[in-house]
Amino acid sequence: MNDNPDRRIRDVVIVGGGTAGWMTAAALAHKLGPIGVQITLIESAAIGTVGVGEATLPQIRDFNRALGIDEAEMMRRTSATIKLGIEFCDWGAIGDRYTHPFGAFGQRIGPADFHHYWVRQHQRGKADEFGSYCYPIVAARRDRFALPDEAVASGLSAFSYAFQFDASRYGAFLADFATRKGAKRVEGKIVGASSNGETDFIESVMLESGEEIAGDLFVDCSGFRGLLIEQELQTGYDDWSRYLPCNRAIAIPCAINGPTGPFTRATARTGGWQWRIPLQHRIGNGHVYCDAYLSDDEALDQLMTTLEGEPLAEPNRLFFKTGKRRKLWNRNCVAIGLSGGFLEPLESTSIDLIQSGILNLIALFPERDCAEADAAEYNRLMDLEFSRIRDFLMLHYVANQRDDAPFWRDMRNQDLPDSLAEKIEAFERRGLVPEYESGLFQPPSWLSVFIGQNVIPERYDPRADRMSEAELDEAFTTMRRSIDAHVEQTPAHLDFIREYGASIELADTA
Ligand SMILES: Cc1cc2nc3c(=O)[nH]c(=O)nc-3n(C[C@H](O)[C@H](O)[C@H](O)COP(=O)(O)OP(=O)(O)OC[C@H]3O[C@@H](n4cnc5c(N)ncnc54)[C@H](O)[C@@H]3O)c2cc1C
Repeated sequence: MNDNPDRRIRDVVIVGGGTAGWMTAAALAHKLGPIGVQITLIESAAIGTVGVGEATLPQIRDFNRALGIDEAEMMRRTSATIKLGIEFCDWGAIGDRYTHPFGAFGQRIGPADFHHYWVRQHQRGKADEFGSYCYPIVAARRDRFALPDEAVASGLSAFSYAFQFDASRYGAFLADFATRKGAKRVEGKIVGASSNGETDFIESVMLESGEEIAGDLFVDCSGFRGLLIEQELQTGYDDWSRYLPCNRAIAIPCAINGPTGPFTRATARTGGWQWRIPLQHRIGNGHVYCDAYLSDDEALDQLMTTLEGEPLAEPNRLFFKTGKRRKLWNRNCVAIGLSGGFLEPLESTSIDLIQSGILNLIALFPERDCAEADAAEYNRLMDLEFSRIRDFLMLHYVANQRDDAPFWRDMRNQDLPDSLAEKIEAFERRGLVPEYESGLFQPPSWLSVFIGQNVIPERYDPRADRMSEAELDEAFTTMRRSIDAHVEQTPAHLDFIREYGASIELADTA
């Protein structure tokens, strides 16, 4: 026999039914339901969800696949569009534009990595923009999309994609999935929790109605308030606002009024930045800013004057402090989603952090005593994820040459964590981008921001000198031609959606 069944966790209670709650419920019901674990999710319509979180990363496709979710159906149900990357406007200097794609730059043309050849061409004054050697970037700019050929591991098909969707519809879609898999949904407001006097483990939560819901393991998906992880267990918060100082956002959807493009846009403003996320039926917009540099009225004004179409709702104001809980797993409570931390939405990393939280929880799924070693390993893995994302986000702010506003001057003069300072130094000197063993953003992501924000290495890999200048010119010209030709054959993004996963009749906007 494998073990004593009494040690096994039987009842998992998920507190909160936002994106985090329903992603957790769907994954646990799918993976652990078959071994007899009952999932109960409590949510309160009176409290509602945060109401933002529309842009995702390609890893969400792995999540959907692991659950057996049909991608086209998900796109239909959530009015999703394709996201090939994020276009950054005005970040390095005003007027700059670059894209962080979900794919690599260039092709292998010799022993050194492609970007070293590009730096050599740049030094010779022969390089086109770095992004023009990347198929998904060129396709995104021309509003084209076709599914990558996953059988081809390199070359033009070596890219991935993500979605831009209506977050509340994604939650509803997963709620259907999770309840079909046996998860139980309870509507009600939680007003308290009771804990074991000896172990301090949470034993149950109380609803306003008087109902008490007991469990072995509690997953806190209650959003910024951290109902269990903070209010009940007082876990503490690592405040990272000295690194990532933006602390407010205003979100508002507007009507579509022109071509949208399969990408998210992040435009730097005087005290923060603005997002634009096109869905099938509307565009999500928001302004993320730091209140020490920009007043709420100015922030709203900047946002409203740049909307492309008629506003479709009242502005939604959000307040946050960047950072993470000191422990994301404390006693028998695991915080997933905004209750665990928030690193601002610049690279759409929150849903991905939810996914990592869920995958690590399933991998380390505890016994009823929630051994400290399991929690410690979970916390180690999640700390690594958070701090690596923090460094990558900081790079966008630090690597700027803007002189138009105090915010940008202060951002480039701020103290850096050693991990980021070392990464910048290695790149500036010799174009090195050490690969992380784990962590979300790999070298192409770092390259896109470094070069996109005008951080060009002083020297390149000497192996890039082994090609003659003529061979190099020829290789670069051929590469651009083949990318352009491939993009020409790629269907329009809206045509792809019409065939694959349209939830409405899509009007041509070109
Ligand atoms: C400005 C901004 C922009 C963002 N943009 C992106 C993005 O583009 N991409 C991305 O990946 N992420 C983004 N995020 C993050 C993303 O919104 C969240 O990660 C995601 O929505 C998950 O939220 P959540 O489920 O943790 O919390 P919430 O959506 O707040 O859900 C909390 C749940 O807990 C319930 N609850 C709370 N208290 C109680 C109680 N007492 N009793 C019962 N139920 C209770 C609520 O009713 C709700 O169901 C953004 C966040 C912000 C602030």
